[in-house]
Amino acid sequence: MMSKICVYSGSSFGASTEYEKAASAFGAACAQRGLGIVYGGGSVGLMGILADSALAAGGEVIGVIPRAMIAEERAHRGLTELIPVDSMHERKHRMASLADAFVALPGGIGTLEEVIEIFTWLQLGLHLKPVGLLNVCGFYDLLLKFLAHMRKEQFLTCAHHAMLAVESDSGRLLDRLAATQHVLVPKPIHHKSNPGS
Ligand code: AMP
Repeated sequence: MMSKICVYSGSSFGASTEYEKAASAFGAACAQRGLGIVYGGGSVGLMGILADSALAAGGEVIGVIPRAMIAEERAHRGLTELIPVDSMHERKHRMASLADAFVALPGGIGTLEEVIEIFTWLQLGLHLKPVGLLNVCGFYDLLLKFLAHMRKEQFLTCAHHAMLAVESDSGRLLDRLAATQHVLVPKPIHHKSNPGS
């Protein structure tokens, strides 16, 4: 059962107010379904909007944040729980172990790095939890094109590519993640035959 979802999202607001609306709708949708949110604990950008909307709708929001960022006063002060950690690596591990599924909202390189890492861990079978992108206003279209290119060029298998859930609507994405049951698909290892032998 999916009870907590880890959300990666921008610490900026983005150029369009559609991103803020989507972050707010996603936070509220999680709270309405009784889904707790685990996130980076920030108060700024889409991260802050997500946390505020889930809290306003009565949801549980857990922030996991490095102590250095708390010292810089970047932490959200009204969360259900704020878990201080010693490093960015510890933060990502803690977020991953607390959650049953992962979603990236629009964001920058921090968001991209986090979602690609958790997708890599799924490909390796280090976890079998669902991973998805909320593709607000086609924000992730270029990344999706690149993943299709990777598959075409045989650096990504069809089975692993299909493990990434992509939807533009919060409700549809949450429904899809809740219905997902991944099984381990080993990554094939190709040995090039030695032309000299
Ligand atoms: P970015 O997408 O580059 O804005 O980075 C956002 C991601 O990096 C979030 O998912 C956070 O985990 C982390 N992050 C970046 N900035 C902050 C911040 N000010 N407070 C907390 N976490 C942050």
